Amino acid sequence: MFRSAHRFINLLKEVQHTFNLAYVFIAHDLASVYHMADRVAVMYLGQVVEIGETVELYSRPAHPYTQALLSASLPINPRDRKSEVILGGEVPSPLNPPSGCRFHPRCPLAFDRCKTEQPPLRSVAPDHAAACFLADELHGGGLPTPGPAAAHAETQPGRAGPVQAP
Ligand code: SF4
Repeated sequence: MFRSAHRFINLLKEVQHTFNLAYVFIAHDLASVYHMADRVAVMYLGQVVEIGETVELYSRPAHPYTQALLSASLPINPRDRKSEVILGGEVPSPLNPPSGCRFHPRCPLAFDRCKTEQPPLRSVAPDHAAACFLADELHGGGLPTPGPAAAHAETQPGRAGPVQAP
């Protein structure tokens, strides 16, 4: 975070505590969001795909999009090492969103059901919910490596193997 941005964030926090305010803070800089927010909602193509208490969501993301965002951001702790998840494809138009799970054309873990069915936002832990058919498996499972989760998906009724992002 740049020094001026850091100062601005600290000023916002100070004002918040002084006047007991609630903020809705919208940003792409996940380090700033972590610093500012008690609760976080991650949106993709106009829909909330994951929501939860900040520390819980950052430490145990349960949606592949959140995991990709976190993998591409600067680590909260500079000593942390992480491997970046590169998403394929382009962001589709929100005016003509993909069928099923809106993230499926870019998701490294997508399988057949994702193309036709929209996953509901459902709880994976107290104050933590994600809209992904694999949310339980991903919760606490680290970064989305297509291998283990996809292999698991193939063992579930109605689930096929992973599809390739275009
Ligand atoms: S695994 Fe399926 S439901 Fe989950 S985010 Fe990927 S495409 Fe969506």
